[in-house]
Amino acid sequence: MAEESVNFGKDLPQFGMESGFLAGGAEGEVHSNPQMWLDALDLVFQRLKDAGAPLDQIEAVSGSGQQHGSVYLKEGFGQALAELRPDASLADQLASIFSRSSSPIWMDTSTGQQCAEITQAAGGAEEVCRRSGSIAIERFTGPQIRKFSQIEPAAYEVTGVIHLVSSFLASVLAGKSVAIDTGDGAGMNLMNLATADWDEVLLGATAPDLKSKLPPVAPASTVAGTISAYFSEKFGLNPDCQVVLWSGDNPCSLVGMGASQPGKVVISLGTSDTLFAAMAEPLTDPRGYGHVFGNPLGGNMSLICFRNGSLAREAVKDRFELSWADFDAEGLARTEPGNGQKVILPFVEDEITPRVSSQDFVPVGWTGEPTPDEWVRGVLEGQFLNMKRHSDWLGVETEEVLLTGGASENDGIAQIAADVFGKKVRRLSVAGSAALGAAMRAAVAMGADIDKLEAAFSAPAEGRDVLPRSENAETYRDLEKVFAQALKNSFNLA
Ligand code: ADP
Repeated sequence: MAEESVNFGKDLPQFGMESGFLAGGAEGEVHSNPQMWLDALDLVFQRLKDAGAPLDQIEAVSGSGQQHGSVYLKEGFGQALAELRPDASLADQLASIFSRSSSPIWMDTSTGQQCAEITQAAGGAEEVCRRSGSIAIERFTGPQIRKFSQIEPAAYEVTGVIHLVSSFLASVLAGKSVAIDTGDGAGMNLMNLATADWDEVLLGATAPDLKSKLPPVAPASTVAGTISAYFSEKFGLNPDCQVVLWSGDNPCSLVGMGASQPGKVVISLGTSDTLFAAMAEPLTDPRGYGHVFGNPLGGNMSLICFRNGSLAREAVKDRFELSWADFDAEGLARTEPGNGQKVILPFVEDEITPRVSSQDFVPVGWTGEPTPDEWVRGVLEGQFLNMKRHSDWLGVETEEVLLTGGASENDGIAQIAADVFGKKVRRLSVAGSAALGAAMRAAVAMGADIDKLEAAFSAPAEGRDVLPRSENAETYRDLEKVFAQALKNSFNLA
């Protein structure tokens, strides 16, 4: 019914963060300012009010926060929220409650040492992955907390509660300190996937006295309470509006894309490609590349990131001075599916899934240089073969693949996805899927039917489905084996 946004750089220039963060910190530190998030929350509600959005009719509100980012607050955070007055801003009233003035965010890569220490203390990488759903990762909150406790022990000491971006903002809405949801909580290297609660071993390996500084964990559909009077009095929100726990942007996107029930795999073809899917069981990636988060509507979800997405597709396009039409049906018709059972390892730069350092693509099995058309097909097929191989642990039969992101419009690319996965590919063009997913979650918590919400808000584009071609099925089954062998021979990967 209404949509408003705030651009951190343009709308809040006083914070000096053009893209919402301060880059260039020591050794890969990337921090943002939690006070900016408070000003943004005030501003977006003001804009909704000014635009005449029927805020007084909203029954429930939830939200999506960028995953992994953390906010450090002194004792008395809950009390400070309870005492907020509508005649002053959130940021002004909460200015003195932070025990750390900045918040490390998902782009921060500065905690390599802390990851190694946690891994060692918790019994190895496999053990960390088995417990938390991911190996220790630099941007994840646990390693970030450990670093803070080491470099600013006094500030860590006076920290009463550590929130994620999502639970921090949910707390502000609810006027009290609320729980971290299992979706976002799983992005911390601190939560045990099987019990959906804090893991004593991981807490012990991370920082002293950590349990007393964390809010409880709760399912994302939990109603945290009624909206704080600050928001009803200041912006005219319905005073009975229920605040549903927030979750992370990836878990919320899963819902917004209509993929919260197992069987659908979403592949987003952006600068990097990502693959995510709902999972019935809390399985983890035995190779340690993929992440498992809570599914906000129950169960779990996977998230696998492939760094060489459009990055690699554009490298081929530029190298041979091609156009996207050469990657589309007409261009691909100039070569045979499977390139005669030859593959190209599609990593033009370092890759994270699988974790390999690479300076260029590796054609495997070719006697001469591939033609430009063969390069296009080889890299695209390599990308989808790589995705299929590294999502083989999800434990869910894929029914359909939902393709989204810049390259998903391309029919040729969609056909290769359908052929490699052997499944129907549907095209999604849901805008703002994280915010939409948060709104859908709020509705579900109030009893709305998820199937009806998906049909209304997340339906795939009509008439754009692509079916796998049965005549190619055997070719691609064989090509999977060629690809696996090529990974083994070139990078010594199992
Ligand atoms: P991000 O959000 O990661 O920036 P997008 O999902 O917006 O990326 O995708 C943008 C990318 O999509 C462009 O950089 C380009 O590489 C790619 N792209 C756009 N059109 C096509 C096309 N027709 N075929 C293949 N790739 C395309």
